[in-house]
Amino acid sequence: MSLDEFGLVARYFTRPVPERQGVGDDCALLDVDATTLALTTDMLVEGVHFFPGAEPDALGHKCLAVNLSDLAAAGARPRSFLLALALPAADPTWLEAFSRGLFALAQEHDCHLIGGDTVRAATRGGPLTVAITAIGEVDPGMVRGRAGARPGDDIWVSGWLGEAALALAVRRGELPAEALGAEAETCFRRMDRPQPRIALGRALAGLATAAADVSDGLIGDLGHILERSGVGAEVIWDDVPRAPAFAGLGTIRQQHCILAGGDDYELVFTAAPENRDAVRAAGARSGVAVSRIGRIEAAHGLRLRNAAGASIGDTLKAFNQFPT
Ligand code: ADP
Ligand code: MG
Repeated sequence: MSLDEFGLVARYFTRPVPERQGVGDDCALLDVDATTLALTTDMLVEGVHFFPGAEPDALGHKCLAVNLSDLAAAGARPRSFLLALALPAADPTWLEAFSRGLFALAQEHDCHLIGGDTVRAATRGGPLTVAITAIGEVDPGMVRGRAGARPGDDIWVSGWLGEAALALAVRRGELPAEALGAEAETCFRRMDRPQPRIALGRALAGLATAAADVSDGLIGDLGHILERSGVGAEVIWDDVPRAPAFAGLGTIRQQHCILAGGDDYELVFTAAPENRDAVRAAGARSGVAVSRIGRIEAAHGLRLRNAAGASIGDTLKAFNQFPT
């Protein structure tokens, strides 16, 4: 029997816990006295999550960014992080640039490196592996995970999706950079230096009923919310915002990148319809656009439709670490 990433975790690594929130959400939540801590860990492996020889300054940024993005989903304020490195070599030039990128983002979010571990990679030459555990704080009355979506809730996304997937397609040689015109730089930046939506995540405290960051693609990450919440959804493709980079590209490419492309680190979240204005205000306050793309329904499953109501794209699958 073959298991995908989520089936594997569900089967072997999920046990009942006394904590407020455990396996299955972007962050675990621990109550410590009057404080609620949000914890998350994400590992990036050379050749799997980034290309060998990736620019170290950008890599330092990204390794922390993907963790802060999980804190954003939970609405947490970053506080500190731990850094575990498996290094193929101790190269001062590389370490200097990596730590610069890492600390620049850490400082931006007032998040402090408080420990970690450093080991030699198993074989000479790699693979370089970076694992970060990030710790944040949530207002105890404002916790949220992926399980709170209710039928009738609106579904929202922040910013634009799919630009990182376009950059990946170019790097893999599947798409000429010229196809993106002047937007190519923007797409590469999205892939290499994602901006965790910390401000929005916090501004949505008390408004969003459920949230996840879009690390594996909209369909996959919204799917986690639906599964955890025991609900289904209708998403209107025409309402999902398009980045300018998609202007000259075909529908299949657009759908693939925007609905199933990973690495964008935007937020997908749900909120009651009476809070539409408040959600838009939270977006404006945080300097990020928010778009309403669908509705939570009681019937399980994700239904993708165009503006005319016709079903589309049901064959799209989100990126999965261990596809079956
Ligand atoms: P994210 O993309 O937000 O980092 P994932 O979707 O990859 O989270 O993981 C889903 C859930 O499974 C998370 O709650 C994560 O903490 C949990 N998880 C993943 N791997 C393991 C593991 N080896 N042991 C326990 N929990 C795990
Ligand atoms: Mg996440």
